Amino acid sequence: MEKSTFDELRTTGKLPSPSGVALRIMELSRQDDVGLDEIARVVQADPALSGRLIKFANSALSGPRRPIAAVQDAIRLLGLKTVRQLALGFSIMGQHRAGACNAFDYGAFWSGSLAAAIASKTLCLRTRSAPPDEAFTCGLLQNIGALALATLYPDGYGAIILDRPEDGRSLRQREREHLHTDHLELTVALLEEWMLPRVFVNAVACHEDPDDGEYPEGSRQATLCHLLHLARNIGLYCGADDPARRDMLPDLIFHGARIGLDSEALALLIDQVVAEWREWGTILEVRTTDIPAFNNLLQASKDAVHALPVPGNTLPQDGGVQSAQVIPLNSRAEDAMRILVVDDDRTILALVSRVLSDQGHQVSTANNGHEALRVAMREQPQMIVCDWIMPEMDGLGFCRALRETEEGRQMYFLLLTAREDEDNLVEAFEAGVDDFVTKPVSPRVLLARLRAGQRVVRLQQESMRDAQSLRRFATELAVANRRLRQAALTDPLTGLPNRRYAMERLEQEWAASRRSQRTFTLMMVDIDRFKAVNDAHGHEVGDQVLRQIALALRKAARSEDVICRLGGEEFLVISPDTPLTPALRLADRLRQAVCGSPMTMGTLRFPLSVSIGVAERGPGMTKYDELLKAADEVLYHAKRLGGNRVQASGLGATQTTPNGTNQS
Ligand code: GH3
Ligand code: MG
Ligand code: MG
Repeated sequence: MEKSTFDELRTTGKLPSPSGVALRIMELSRQDDVGLDEIARVVQADPALSGRLIKFANSALSGPRRPIAAVQDAIRLLGLKTVRQLALGFSIMGQHRAGACNAFDYGAFWSGSLAAAIASKTLCLRTRSAPPDEAFTCGLLQNIGALALATLYPDGYGAIILDRPEDGRSLRQREREHLHTDHLELTVALLEEWMLPRVFVNAVACHEDPDDGEYPEGSRQATLCHLLHLARNIGLYCGADDPARRDMLPDLIFHGARIGLDSEALALLIDQVVAEWREWGTILEVRTTDIPAFNNLLQASKDAVHALPVPGNTLPQDGGVQSAQVIPLNSRAEDAMRILVVDDDRTILALVSRVLSDQGHQVSTANNGHEALRVAMREQPQMIVCDWIMPEMDGLGFCRALRETEEGRQMYFLLLTAREDEDNLVEAFEAGVDDFVTKPVSPRVLLARLRAGQRVVRLQQESMRDAQSLRRFATELAVANRRLRQAALTDPLTGLPNRRYAMERLEQEWAASRRSQRTFTLMMVDIDRFKAVNDAHGHEVGDQVLRQIALALRKAARSEDVICRLGGEEFLVISPDTPLTPALRLADRLRQAVCGSPMTMGTLRFPLSVSIGVAERGPGMTKYDELLKAADEVLYHAKRLGGNRVQASGLGATQTTPNGTNQS
């Protein structure tokens, strides 16, 4: 959006903006030397915000932590950046719960935004693609431009929302036409104004149509676009009514698969989001609704075919005709069904069975409800033709029992009855009957009703196949995407994570360590005089040796250490939660793993060594690049001293010789 257009809108003073307290927090958090206590004092001026920050820090979404009760602790745990963004999000929400645009449902807006916020956060936690706390605010504000338009132009925007154009112009097109901007553009301008992290603003900019984004598939930025898209759809899903919600299932499954979630994982995740949404709804006074478990909805949408209006009720009733008519035979084998006929009157049982098997159907019989249940479970009929009044268990009892079972729910149930009055029929349909034929049974009517039922059975089978193939497709897609991402992050020669992974991981560990106030250590590992191996024996032998060294390093490290190949003969080791002293011991173990036993290839032996630069995250460091640089510098120092040694940064001059560790 043009800077001048946005400036103009800003001068109206009507754009959504944070409260005084939130503004003060945002301002303070930008200063380098601000103390926690000072921020805490400002936060405490707003008791609601204080409570929400503490609740947020304690919420299950933030991962397992010791419960806290003080604002200071919440701020320390969450970190300034998160506090700043939460203050922003919560304060905008607080000030715009209602407004002048009658057509704009403010309650629904915040309800959906809250669900999207929780979904963004949960998805980030799950996929580790961005810091989850920041994702929350970003999800909460990802459609703030729509609210801004409603605030700026209550009447004009109302008309645009209510307009249902016949030419299918999108909401954004109509917004641009009438208001010279659109909600997405305005969202992006506002998020930039509020200084949300660049990766998130980029992701929001293309989250409505993530496939239009120009980011390479599998890149962190592209993943984040898909992730926000899914989060937005989960928000819409939470706000939808039941039939609309069911229509959204395939799309949700598809987009889950795009970021590597199969339908089981997605179901778990959405259920978790819904639970958190309900809990947060109470805290933030945002309306929520009870939503059935995702898998139940999925199942129900398969069963929904049962609820189709049953055709055939308008057929002429010619119940008097008892004799066999000239009835066309089912000519196609696939039209044949497995049908169970149940009646205590053996004459009717025989007549109906005969009529049906003459049509090519495969018929089994039973004399009462109990027997029918056993036969139904064994034969799995697609259709049941059943008398109402029978000894032991009557037709409706049998039907109710069937509907309790997974398989029985799918069977088409045709009731034979002489009781045609309204109350009786209502009772029958409530028991789960699909249709009825009046007694005395006319074969012609019976077959007509049967054909109508057959259409339903066929539709239902197709929809089951569709649901199954959708699930299969989603699983395959999820696996393929996971594999693609894996490949994009793996070094093909050594099988270790590659540079791209190393940098993403480093960024995450950096953020996690900042939040938890725990330290972590980096090591740069470089093979000494490796070029000589290539020069003497060729590149292929060099490759084999590289592979062996990678393996030796991996074996000597602990499971929590992340070893990556940065390229060439350089490796990076990330040791989360590890202070310098144990890191130095680890580094020396890695060094000895290489020089202690020479790599071999056939009869060739390669007595090689590595040099290692170790750097711990220091209090003065503001970006992880500084940590990388520190490790790199001490590595070069180690090289200058002759190689095969560990050199550490941060403790003054430190060195390790082949004989052990010296720190000075
Ligand atoms: P130094 O002790 O200073 O580290 O010497 P060096 O020879 O190990 O380092 P230098 O950076 O001068 O050269 C690195 C060499 O590593 C250059 C190249 O022949 C070799 N190399 C880099 N990548 C690969 C690879 O994928 N396979 C093989 N076989 N060799 C590689
Ligand atoms: Mg080298
Ligand atoms: Mg090198």
